Amino acid sequence: MFCTKCGAELPEGTKFCPACGTPTAAAGVASSTAPATPSPEAGAQSSEDPLARFWNSPKFGWAAVYFNRVLNYVYIGLGLLLLAYGWWAIALVLIIGGSVGAYSVLSRKYHRTHTKCPACGQRVKIGDATCKKCGASLPVQQVKPDTLQEAELEDSANGRFYSLKVKKITLLCTPLLIPFIIILFSVAGDSILGTPVYQIQNAVFSQYGSQTVEQVVDDNFRGPEWSSEKLDENSSIVYVEGYMPLYSEDVRLTFYYEDQGDGTFQYSINSVALLDSGEIYTDFWNIALFMELLYS
Ligand SMILES: [Zn+2]
Ligand SMILES: [Zn+2]
Repeated sequence: MFCTKCGAELPEGTKFCPACGTPTAAAGVASSTAPATPSPEAGAQSSEDPLARFWNSPKFGWAAVYFNRVLNYVYIGLGLLLLAYGWWAIALVLIIGGSVGAYSVLSRKYHRTHTKCPACGQRVKIGDATCKKCGASLPVQQVKPDTLQEAELEDSANGRFYSLKVKKITLLCTPLLIPFIIILFSVAGDSILGTPVYQIQNAVFSQYGSQTVEQVVDDNFRGPEWSSEKLDENSSIVYVEGYMPLYSEDVRLTFYYEDQGDGTFQYSINSVALLDSGEIYTDFWNIALFMELLYS
């Protein structure tokens, strides 16, 4: 049960809210034995729009507060993941937003559950019998139940909103973002890391030289265009095509790429096609000759 005024969670059977003192529903039933006619206020409440009743219910309010607390850590986690992908700008925004939010929640909790020792001023935990610093015995006190009015002031990962309304909107809207985030990650993950094109571009044919394939291609091709074609779950063909001044014509290189499933991959160059003259080299010696030329 929650206080209808401040939203604090009420201990079972209590007659007054321990946080704000408002009489609880239980107190109302106990004290007024025979209400002849329903009060106008009660009438107004029951005719209230069910949507508004849901929106204003303490349960929904607390759900929003808890959701925003969890979201802080989700943001930090996502931020760390993106940092690993090298998207440091978005990563920092997420990590800082999440950390500020999480810090705000923890610091509010600390201040709610701690008080100053009347003797020495040391921060002591409410409920402790004696001060750890000076040994003075502390007055018996209980931590006040948390209220929605105060929880509203927590920072959230989305910014310093201090508003329950924004927290509620965040709760309702974030699930809508999840499919979008999943799509973003699968597309971004595929296009940045681990794609056959990326792997071939950064591969090295050490028998010819120490440069990456991309460096060699950039040195020898004008306006190279990369593409790939999936053969099956683990293997792909990677193409790069562009004008080669050395041959005075468009040339297409075809690479074979195979993911080994253990974080490594195998690759080879399959063919060299001179597109204007229609010549295609697929044999070892002609390809080796071409590669020597490329790396020289
Ligand atoms: Zn209250
Ligand atoms: Zn003390």
